[in-house]
Amino acid sequence: KVRVRFAPSPTGPLHIGGVRTALFNYLFAKKHNGDFILRIEDTDQKRYVEGAEKYIIDALNWCNIPFDEGPGKEGAYGPYRQSDRKELYRKYADILLGNGSAYYAFDTSEELDAHRKDHEEKGKTFIYNHHNRLKLSNSLSLSKEATDQRIAAGEEYVIRFKTPTDTAVHLSDLVRGKIEIDSNILDDKVLFKSDGMPTYHLANIVDDHLMEITHVIRGEEWLPSMALHQQLYNAFGWDVPQFAHLPLIMKPVGKGKLSKRDGEKLGFPVFPLTWKESIGYRESGYFPESVVNFLALLGWNPGTEQELFSMEELIASFDLDRVNSSGARFDPDKTKWYNQQYMQDRDALELAEGFSEILRSSEFQIAEERLNISYVKQVVVLIKERATFIQDFWELGDYFFVAPESYNEKAVKKQWKEDSAAIMEQLVAMLGSISDFSSENLEAKVKEWIGEQGLSFGKVMPPLRLITVGDMKGPHMFDILALIGQQESIDRINKAIS
Ligand code: GLU
Repeated sequence: KVRVRFAPSPTGPLHIGGVRTALFNYLFAKKHNGDFILRIEDTDQKRYVEGAEKYIIDALNWCNIPFDEGPGKEGAYGPYRQSDRKELYRKYADILLGNGSAYYAFDTSEELDAHRKDHEEKGKTFIYNHHNRLKLSNSLSLSKEATDQRIAAGEEYVIRFKTPTDTAVHLSDLVRGKIEIDSNILDDKVLFKSDGMPTYHLANIVDDHLMEITHVIRGEEWLPSMALHQQLYNAFGWDVPQFAHLPLIMKPVGKGKLSKRDGEKLGFPVFPLTWKESIGYRESGYFPESVVNFLALLGWNPGTEQELFSMEELIASFDLDRVNSSGARFDPDKTKWYNQQYMQDRDALELAEGFSEILRSSEFQIAEERLNISYVKQVVVLIKERATFIQDFWELGDYFFVAPESYNEKAVKKQWKEDSAAIMEQLVAMLGSISDFSSENLEAKVKEWIGEQGLSFGKVMPPLRLITVGDMKGPHMFDILALIGQQESIDRINKAIS
């Protein structure tokens, strides 16, 4: 059975790159009727940030990426938070010590710094591996007695992996294909720290093994660790899961990885949810469906022209074969386009509720009957076509709530002719006599009247729009009049010609 995991470290807000990793894992799991597991990798106590785990879970919930097992959703492989599994890891470090794949090291951080500096001065880089191991202070350079003595005396130590020398490490990645690494360039990574906690590397491998993870799908930044991870599996004698490293998400323009700063510069935040003072996609008015849809296409291509995908469609079409190995460029305009598309399918009542909040908090004096939810909903239906966010509704449809206080000067120059006032005066009298003020009837009556008067559409409609809306924007004119109502339509015309 396919089992995959999203294994974030709770060190801060979840970046969209993290959400994408979670999404790809989820899609892959569901496509293969497998399980998607959330594992919190919090063994680095120095980088732990309070609240980050809740934030990660909230973000996944908001995006509708549910996990089958994880904190708060215990399954057969728990606990799912590494700090709750603390006791378990030492045993595995001991297995590697026992079979010669790992060793104790006593070097203090000052000593290591001195070695690094020393090497630098000679124009070299210090690598803790077969080059230096025997000159350093560890159980490979010391006798067994000396090592035991130092441990017994309570001296601090770490446990390091003994990287095999002169071996070609053959890796196979589902996205990048075959990779060969010379083991001599790898360093002897710390597996177990002096604080009694495993490092990421040890805990990650042990947990993936114990949780029976079949596919490790993660960001490309972990590719350099893959050789070590594979050697760790070998050292334990365990099956190696399949790996898939997802391409980096690149800046919209120029070179390099997308960063939080890019988000700020572009005027929209990268983070999907509120994290302390930084606002995110949710607050900016993005719908979860849009976020999921644009993230799905960051690094994966369906092989067709299709751009809009529901979660079900994504699950059905997703495949690791179609994940690109080159970086995926983040396109802020495209993310907005997605939101505009999803806006059209949204439930109008839900949109109206969101808009109502904005209307009620605005400083404008809006008459109570205009705040009625069914009225707001009708407005939303008329204007949403051009909106990307709920926040755009006011800009697009303020005139449904308050009469224009001024008229766009340029438009006035262009549309308001010498005879406009006279025509509007006649029109207003006619509008007052209409008993069925529905959009259809209004349209029929006004057209008829234009014909009778020997006028043209161009003489009537532009000035009418200008004085009703304040500008030349907006949906179908008769829909606007019907919705604001007979009295309001008449008042606006009268105000303009008085
Ligand atoms: N804890 C690592 C992270 O924060 C997990 C990497 C992996 O998936 O192996 O991304």
